[in-house]
Amino acid sequence: MTQLDRQGPADPVSVPFTPGMRDNPDELAEMPEEIARAVEEPADPTPTEELTAEWRNASYNCFSSGHKFCREVCPVMQVTRNESWTPTAFHANVVAMDKGELTIEDVAADYVNCTQCGACELRCPNTLFTGDFYRFRTRTVDVVKAVRALAVESGVHQPAWQSWNARTDELTHEPVLGETPIDQEHVRDWSEGLDLPIGGETVLFVDCEAAFYRTSVPRAVAQILQQAGYEFGLMGEQWCCGGPAAEMGYVDQAMRFARHNLDNWRSTGTRRVLVLDPHDYISFTEDYPKYFGEEFDLEVVLVVEVFAELIREGRLTPSVPIERAITYHDPCRLNKRKGIWQEPREILRAIPGLDFSDVDRVTQWSYCSGGGGGLPVEKPELTAAISASRLEKAAALEVDTLVSACPWSERPLTEAGEAVDIDVVDIHELLAESLGITVGGSRNGGAGA
Ligand code: SF4
Repeated sequence: MTQLDRQGPADPVSVPFTPGMRDNPDELAEMPEEIARAVEEPADPTPTEELTAEWRNASYNCFSSGHKFCREVCPVMQVTRNESWTPTAFHANVVAMDKGELTIEDVAADYVNCTQCGACELRCPNTLFTGDFYRFRTRTVDVVKAVRALAVESGVHQPAWQSWNARTDELTHEPVLGETPIDQEHVRDWSEGLDLPIGGETVLFVDCEAAFYRTSVPRAVAQILQQAGYEFGLMGEQWCCGGPAAEMGYVDQAMRFARHNLDNWRSTGTRRVLVLDPHDYISFTEDYPKYFGEEFDLEVVLVVEVFAELIREGRLTPSVPIERAITYHDPCRLNKRKGIWQEPREILRAIPGLDFSDVDRVTQWSYCSGGGGGLPVEKPELTAAISASRLEKAAALEVDTLVSACPWSERPLTEAGEAVDIDVVDIHELLAESLGITVGGSRNGGAGA
């Protein structure tokens, strides 16, 4: 007796079945139709669904851990104590959007309150403890950028960012000075009298703030490079790097600007881009490779690293003593985002006469100026409060000078420095002074080279 005999008549569904065969059991005749009912086309995901699909795991990972270590290193949290503006909240909002509890309209304004300094990413135990093993890093900066981009795509704008980006688009440079003439015709005014060529294998890219406002910085950089015999030129037609637009969520505009700059470098035979501003450095090393993939094959070199190397090689020898009591302000995009904190200290230690009080605060613990991530455009009062807090820390070291390596930090830091009688000086300018160079230019948007 077979197994089938023992169990009675065969279950038609258990019999091997080939659709369309004549000997199929009658009971199955209707099955193919039933099984093959029309497959519903999945609807295209909405932009919100695309975002939550990408960031769901990271956001639940943060939301479920609940330790919130990041809050204490967050510069916005330090001055506001507002729980809605923490990295934890930024991730929790993504969870809420994923569950349909909140919409982008509900949360977009919270994401203004971030300088994209990256401290939270480093402080996060998910980065610290599992990162070593799994190469995992919490990416709050990217979450903030993605949600801001979703807001813009969904037509949810922050008023100051919207008009700032419209002006940038019109001028092809950031409107750093409001009504001061900022356009292609004036973008190289800072270099007057320095006799710099256009194009060539290496070009110096000068960010909008330095090109139009703090022109002493690019002048210092250019003259130091000339003293060392380092060959370079200027861009043929330089536009804003597009980084700030990308940080505020205006990604299409950022990509158009990037395309223009890349095409211009190609047209002048450029292979290497020298960068003095940490924000440009982030754009060129992180955003451009994402936009262009392998097409972006240029070398991007940070000026501070070049100067440290030239000093090491003996091609630059700072010898004019500078009698100042200084401390150093680590720009977030160099230190926390890129791990570059040694070279600036190398330069400072090579300058004779400086009394350098270093802070025991690198990586996640270093302070922020509040000048990044579009915060000064939309919330200048928060930027001012963060800069004031930064200067208080410097004042506690009893220094007379705070040295920075970021033109975008220097304006709010300088304003805060006036209140505590601390001079804010750019590291490139300080080095130029010790090399006996008369820099010229403006430190506050004034006229003249
Ligand atoms: S960002 Fe990191 S440290 Fe902050 S709450 Fe989330 S998991 Fe914790």
